Amino acid sequence: MDDTRNLEEKLAYYQKENEELKLRVEELSDFFENASMPLHWVDAQGIIIWANQAELDALGYSKQEYIGFPIGNFHADQHVIEDILNRLVNNETLYDYTARLKCKDGSIKHVLINSNVMRKDGKFMHTRCFTRDITGKVQEEQRKNDFVTMVSHELKTPLTVINSYVQILINKAKKDADNSSGQLLTRIEAQTKKMIAMVQDFLTPARIEGGKIELRKEAFVLDTLINETAQYAKLLTSKHSINLIADESISVEADRDKIGQILINLLTNAIKYSPKGGAITIGYEKHDEKVRVFVSDQGIGIDKSHHKRLFERFFRVNNELKEVSGFGIGLYLVSEILRLHGSRINLQSEANVGSTFYFDLETLN
Ligand code: ADP
Repeated sequence: MDDTRNLEEKLAYYQKENEELKLRVEELSDFFENASMPLHWVDAQGIIIWANQAELDALGYSKQEYIGFPIGNFHADQHVIEDILNRLVNNETLYDYTARLKCKDGSIKHVLINSNVMRKDGKFMHTRCFTRDITGKVQEEQRKNDFVTMVSHELKTPLTVINSYVQILINKAKKDADNSSGQLLTRIEAQTKKMIAMVQDFLTPARIEGGKIELRKEAFVLDTLINETAQYAKLLTSKHSINLIADESISVEADRDKIGQILINLLTNAIKYSPKGGAITIGYEKHDEKVRVFVSDQGIGIDKSHHKRLFERFFRVNNELKEVSGFGIGLYLVSEILRLHGSRINLQSEANVGSTFYFDLETLN
């Protein structure tokens, strides 16, 4: 009798446990199926094996049109999905990886992907992929950029005209031996050039991103360009000493204007971010087949924690120099122009000690 009761109690207990378990499973599957964030799993062959409703709704496909198909079919950029799958196979976890997905109606969605792989006994089972739609943000950014580009275009012409009139006046002052006017005009010229360089900085990213930028490579003597830029920097500051370190004369093949734009950006930053003055050095040294060009300062420096993001567009270090104007575009441009040259910008910097920015170019001699 007791045995039967025990058995009944046990049965009732297991039934209750079972129901609890079923409830938890239902809750969990509801959590994933009906979560407001798009989610999917992809197997080791890159085939979508599960996707939730939010993902289907976001892209406009039915289950039958989406599950069972290669994930690559829904990506706008094949090299991107190849890279994503490669990284996942190699055990990487992706954080906010940007990608573009193809919707059923032909439109494109910009997304951030967070993903890693579920493994069993080391075997790739499936990815756990979370997708966040950032199309609105990207479009807003695009509108902002278009506006900045348009304004910059409008500013460029009058500034160039002002600059040419100032040059005429400088020549006239020279002829008339009018030194005081000459000095003032030279300062006006420097500030106008600064504005032209700024406008140029705003125009270049849009052109780079639109794939519209073409390097106009030519052979030129690096020393002359460095010397010219240093002379120009001297006009921008009376607080700093601008020093030149030049090795033997070196010729390079690169886009002279754009390398000049890089040097001006680095020098203006060196001035801006060393408010107490000090020495700023621009120079180059030969390294085997290459030449290393550098700009260093004794300014506020940059803490290591910021080095990684420094070359992103609109990134500015939140330092104590809030009054220093800028848009966080200069270093982004520097790195993009160097990327087009097959080179890259490097940095050695320590907070409160100073910074050295440097890059390599192929030499001709
Ligand atoms: P901007 O100067 O317009 O802010 P940049 O892209 O040229 O934009 O620079 C990004 C950020 O990097 C700056 O806001 C500044 O915080 C930091 N930075 C750049 N150059 C220097 C430098 N020489 N010394 C210290 N900080 C620098």
